[in-house]
Amino acid sequence: MKIDLHCHSRASDGSLTPTELVQRAALQQVSVLALTDHDTTAGLAEARQAAALNNVTLIDGVEISTHWRNWEIHIVGLNFDVANPALQQLLQRQSAWRDERAALIDQRLQKRGIEGALALAAQFAGNGNIGRSHFAKALVEMGVVAKPQLAFDKFLGKGECAYVGNRWCELAEAVARINAAGGVSVLAHPSKYDLSNKWLRMLVTDFVAAGGMAMETIHCQINPQLQQFLQQLAMEHQLLLSAGSDFHGPSRWLELGRGLHRPSQAGVWHHFGWVEEGQ
Ligand code: AMP
Ligand code: MN
Ligand code: MN
Ligand code: MN
Repeated sequence: MKIDLHCHSRASDGSLTPTELVQRAALQQVSVLALTDHDTTAGLAEARQAAALNNVTLIDGVEISTHWRNWEIHIVGLNFDVANPALQQLLQRQSAWRDERAALIDQRLQKRGIEGALALAAQFAGNGNIGRSHFAKALVEMGVVAKPQLAFDKFLGKGECAYVGNRWCELAEAVARINAAGGVSVLAHPSKYDLSNKWLRMLVTDFVAAGGMAMETIHCQINPQLQQFLQQLAMEHQLLLSAGSDFHGPSRWLELGRGLHRPSQAGVWHHFGWVEEGQ
């Protein structure tokens, strides 16, 4: 059996509906799946229905964008009370900033002579939370760039001309609200922030001080040395380990549940009884 505690649906910037995502998880023999859309829980009800039909255990999840010392750090929440008012209030605030930010990104693109990106990005986002990936797709569609990665490299990535600074909630606030809603707060993909080991140590120290409980150290494209460093850091701070693909849709590089090798101890899945010991 496989588990995957980080992925996205069309409720944010994934390309599959929650139902398609759960069906795909079942085909890939993923038996425990957390849907963790960016700043929204809107996909969870549909995912839950699909999970019941496909023999998948669904863990309620979310991925919250946060601000930490000038960096944008993502915090995954798992297994919280989805109806918790304070958490939903935070997610609404984050979603409102997403809409505001989208307009600001569009203004910056217009300054570069690129017209109409917002309308197209909004179309790609549909009812889901709008994000930079939708702009990347729009810029490809408009012929501005050849592929989405180039849109990030030239326009949308941190420090590029259409990057709009980070007005997300503070990291500590996201952790506190997830915990208060009965959930498990997880530091998402620490290897993806381009932080030196010294900064990673500071990040983990602050995360733990805020009440952080687990860290994603298991994903398929991580460099083994860095993974070892992160697992050591997790052990020092008695953090549980989490595993997630960060799947956004079918691609050549990534699959739900693939390459998520699980160490036998300290897994968040054992601690919370989602997977029995030895499985
Ligand atoms: P947002 O939450 O709207 O700021 O968008 C963040 C998402 O954009 C991430 O979850 C990735 O899916 C994607 N993303 C962010 N930075 C990059 C990058 N440099 N290259 C490719 N994709 C990126
Ligand atoms: Mn994303
Ligand atoms: Mn992320
Ligand atoms: Mn993600």
